[in-house]
Amino acid sequence: MLTCSKCKNEYPSSEIKFSMTNAKLLCVYCLGEKTRKIEIPFEAEENQQEEVQEVLRYHCKACQYNFSKRKSAEVNRCPYCSREGTVELRKSANELLIEALEPLYAE
Ligand SMILES: [Zn+2]
Ligand SMILES: [Zn+2]
Repeated sequence: MLTCSKCKNEYPSSEIKFSMTNAKLLCVYCLGEKTRKIEIPFEAEENQQEEVQEVLRYHCKACQYNFSKRKSAEVNRCPYCSREGTVELRKSANELLIEALEPLYAE
């Protein structure tokens, strides 16, 4: 076991390196080469969840308008023509494929 000159903890030789810049033996954690799991910032994790949040795709039968909303958002009327009860959920990969072939409507 070798002792890190910075944190004074003992580590196996595989986790201790000689730092040329500090001229000292430092552990990989003090060198910043490895991060302890505890040190993972919570903020980054939250941001990831934000991106992963599921988005549902909708289609208005009245005006053929396609749009997507977060799963948590309530959709009961079309944001384009404001009609109620004309919006249906688009799910299948086939439908998404068809949408890609549809002309783009002006926004
Ligand atoms: Zn250390
Ligand atoms: Zn509509």
